Amino acid sequence: MALLNILHYPDPRLKNVASPVDEVSEEIRKLLDDMLETMYDAPGIGLAATQVNIPKRLIVIDISEQKNSPLYLVNPEIVRQEGDTEMEEGCLSVPGIFASVDRANQIEVKALGKDGEIQEFTADGLLAICIQHEIDHLNGVLFIDYLSEIRRQRIKKKLQKQARQTM
Ligand code: ZN
Repeated sequence: MALLNILHYPDPRLKNVASPVDEVSEEIRKLLDDMLETMYDAPGIGLAATQVNIPKRLIVIDISEQKNSPLYLVNPEIVRQEGDTEMEEGCLSVPGIFASVDRANQIEVKALGKDGEIQEFTADGLLAICIQHEIDHLNGVLFIDYLSEIRRQRIKKKLQKQARQTM
C-alpha cells in the first residue's frame, strides 16, 4: 500500500468532475486500499479520489472510533433524500477550516462495493453528511463552496499563507 498526496484548496484540480468506473478491477481495489491508508494516516473520516488527483468516482469512509469499519463506494449515487440537518464539517483538502453546511438528514445510496457488487442502503446522521460531502468532491464541489464569497476568499488567503509558511 502507498500513501497518496492530498490536494489542498485552492488547487484547481479539486474542481475536476470524476468519471464513473467501468469495472471494479484489481487496479481499482488497490487504489481503494491506498485511499483508505491515506485517509487513516491524515487522519480523516472520508476521502474522495478527486482529493488525491484521481478523476474516478471512488470514495472511502470510516466513521467508527476504532477505525475498523471501512466503507468503499464506487460510482455512488443518492437515489432518495429527505429532511435537513447540519453539522460542523471539515475537509482534508481544506485543513484547519470548519463550517456548517445544509445537508439532507437521511439518504438512500446506491453504489458498487469493493467486491463489484451493487449495494443499496440508507444512511443518516454523520454517515449521511459524510457521504454527501464526499460525493460533492466527485462533482468538483467543496463544502466551502456553500459559504459566502467573502468567507471563502478569507479561507483562501489563510490557506495560501499557511502553504507559503510550510514550504
Ligand atoms: Zn472533503
